[in-house]
Amino acid sequence: MPAPTIGVFALQGDVREHLRVLTDLGARAVGVRRPSELAACHGLVLPGGESTTMVKLARTFDLVEPLRERIAGGMPTFGTCAGMILLADRILDGIAGQETLGGLDVTVRRNAFGRQVDSFEGGLEFAGLDAPVQAVFIRAPWVEEAGPGVQVLATVPAGPAMGRIVAVREGHLMATSFHPEVATDDRVHRSFVHLVTQS
Ligand code: GLN
Repeated sequence: MPAPTIGVFALQGDVREHLRVLTDLGARAVGVRRPSELAACHGLVLPGGESTTMVKLARTFDLVEPLRERIAGGMPTFGTCAGMILLADRILDGIAGQETLGGLDVTVRRNAFGRQVDSFEGGLEFAGLDAPVQAVFIRAPWVEEAGPGVQVLATVPAGPAMGRIVAVREGHLMATSFHPEVATDDRVHRSFVHLVTQS
């Protein structure tokens, strides 16, 4: 397959960081703001940002239904932080009536780590990678419950949140609580690009 076109949802969030990593990995990385741009993508990244704002903007720009259709239709999609919330079938601690795009059979808790540990980073064992990933968490969610078809890729290794699920995969969908796009380590994106080229 020639370089895959991988979109980054670009109405809000840390779009540029994802575009840079994907471009460095040899993908054709494009910002997605409208349905026609989504239609050209082989895969999609939902970045970190503010999930409530992202869904509202997606509604305003008529992207919610096209996104749901592509995600349900098998387009490889990778959500980071707020993007994990967008991919979740169920959320806890959302604002009243907060919608998601869904697709991942998980329950995700927003801002799960609490105010004391708003932002932190640390090394995480990540399934399929031989050395720990440097993970940056910023007002991050965690996966409170995962359905039987969901593969857990990483959990918090220590501290009060020890054992909490922070990275998952279910078929063509991947999500991390943390922000691999802000670290210098491109291995998580590399595995997503691989998922796109394999499908
Ligand atoms: N707390 C944000 C939300 O609920 C997510 C934070 C992030 O993406 N860094 O959407």
